[in-house]
Amino acid sequence: MPLFRLGDRGAVVAEIRAKLALLDLLDAPPETDEFDASTDRAVRGFQQARGLRVDGVVGPETYRCLDEAHWRLGDRVLSYVAAKPFVGDDVAVLQQRLLELGFDPGRCDGIFGVATDAALRDFQRNIGLRADGTLGPGTLRALDQLRRTVTGGSPSERREEERLRRSGATLTGRVIVLDPGHGGGDTGVCGHGLVEAAVMLDLAARIEGRLGALGVTTYLTRSADASPGEAERARFANDVAADLVVSLHLDALEGSSACGSASFYYGATLPGRVTRSAVGEKLADLISREVASRTDLVDGRTHPKAWELLRLTRMPAVRMEAGYLSHPGDAARLASGDFRDALAEAVVAALQRLYLPEHLDIPTGQFRMPALSH
Ligand SMILES: [Zn+2]
Repeated sequence: MPLFRLGDRGAVVAEIRAKLALLDLLDAPPETDEFDASTDRAVRGFQQARGLRVDGVVGPETYRCLDEAHWRLGDRVLSYVAAKPFVGDDVAVLQQRLLELGFDPGRCDGIFGVATDAALRDFQRNIGLRADGTLGPGTLRALDQLRRTVTGGSPSERREEERLRRSGATLTGRVIVLDPGHGGGDTGVCGHGLVEAAVMLDLAARIEGRLGALGVTTYLTRSADASPGEAERARFANDVAADLVVSLHLDALEGSSACGSASFYYGATLPGRVTRSAVGEKLADLISREVASRTDLVDGRTHPKAWELLRLTRMPAVRMEAGYLSHPGDAARLASGDFRDALAEAVVAALQRLYLPEHLDIPTGQFRMPALSH
């Protein structure tokens, strides 16, 4: 789809404005078809709340999120459709309700998947309804009657952490998907003689080698000449049932002095509440800390985002942005093989630490490869 931004006009702009008005983000009556300043403000507010890139531009991702956001619970009959799952805020509310009642629909991501189906059937069985996995009027009424307020912490975050804790203390035997960004005709950002797609593929290979030595099964989402879309990469990770996904990117911001690395995990505000991947956040934090202790990159810390890859993966996923190619200092570092090795070791150490019980934890930056493999 084309991009829509400040100053544009037309039927699609009118539709965007109508959607924003429906979400109470736009006060003005939605009669005009102009993407005016108030539309721009509303779009930015929406992007901010949903963990999208805040640029005021309505492209495919923002448009899709706007579209999903208008569904209210009860607007449509929900069930699990493998070929094209229901996605929307009504699904997120359903997931939240099921969680509050003690059922496990997976992450509250607004996608009606297998786990939500199982939780809904569980719920129906529990209250003596036919367990058909369909949210029709009867089940909805029962849900409403049983509604209660849960305070303190989020059940979905606790469950994700509980699963991690139960899964054991070692990286050996895990399946990890490495996702070097871009590829093929899509080079990503470029600067100071370096190309993001190539540097990230090289970094992925360095991480892959180290993980292999530790008995980890590693998959890459792409080869040098392929450039799958974000949804395709997520599907790949889901298909191989990965334990974790690490996506590798670089940044560039021309005419700015921006530099350093940052890590991102799934998080967004869905119907009035914040949802996030607790394990994703923990891994992002570990990666950030290991990178900060092993390199002299500026520490840009961790941030929640609802980017497609982070959202559509069913396992915790982290996107690392390992520096700015527009920054001469970062680019000089990234040109060095030793520096890439240090980055690779930081990622591997973070992955190891994720599975370590707290009492066995050792200080950040202290892991060295030989000690890791025993
Ligand atoms: Zn990138």
